Parts: sequence; structure tokens; C-alpha cells
Amino acid sequence: MDDSIGSRFYCCFRCRKIIAAHDHTVDKSFLAWRGRGFLFSHVVNVVEGPKADRLLISGTHMVADVFCGDCGEKLGWKYEKTYEQHHKYKEGKTVLAKSKITKAFDSTFY
Ligand SMILES: [Zn+2]
Repeated sequence: MDDSIGSRFYCCFRCRKIIAAHDHTVDKSFLAWRGRGFLFSHVVNVVEGPKADRLLISGTHMVADVFCGDCGEKLGWKYEKTYEQHHKYKEGKTVLAKSKITKAFDSTFY
């Protein structure tokens, strides 16, 4: 990646629970709600809402909202299924809104 020095993590902006590692960032230029979002291959300490088809900017996808496992704040969504070939790489990955996560430097990820 670009400027990573050591291990960097992203936490829930509200309760500071660690949600994702910088190393698991797939795409940093995603659109999430009204702001930027990051696409992660792997997230931890979250709970998923029910799966539903949703019309997003890039088309219809089956997604599940993702909430902080600690404080319940809605952080983003997970792509459960995509219907177009060029979106397949998103399946099983999670978008976290940049406004809902905050950077942390910590070694206690798990
Ligand atoms: Zn939280």
C-alpha cells in the first residue's frame, strides 16, 4: 500500500472498538452514503443485519448492513451477492463509511 508504516487499524468512531486492519483495505475510493468509504476484505467485531437487494450507485446488489458489535452504530454494509460480473470481486467484502471509522495505531487487533 501507499504510506503504511507498521500496523494501522480502523476503529468505530464512537466506541473505539477495532473493526478493520489497514492491510485489509481493498479500495479506498468507495462512495458510502454522502462521503467516502473504504472497501475491506476482512472486518472484525461487527454484526450483520438482514440481507436485502438494494439499488446502489453501481447497480443492484444483495447487501447486509454492518453494525459495530459493541455499540451498535451502523458502520457500512457487506456485499453478499452481486449480479454483474465486474462487481464480483466485491462479494464477501465490506464497505465502511469513512465518517464512521477512525484511524488507530494498535497492536491488539485480535
Ligand atoms: Zn462502536
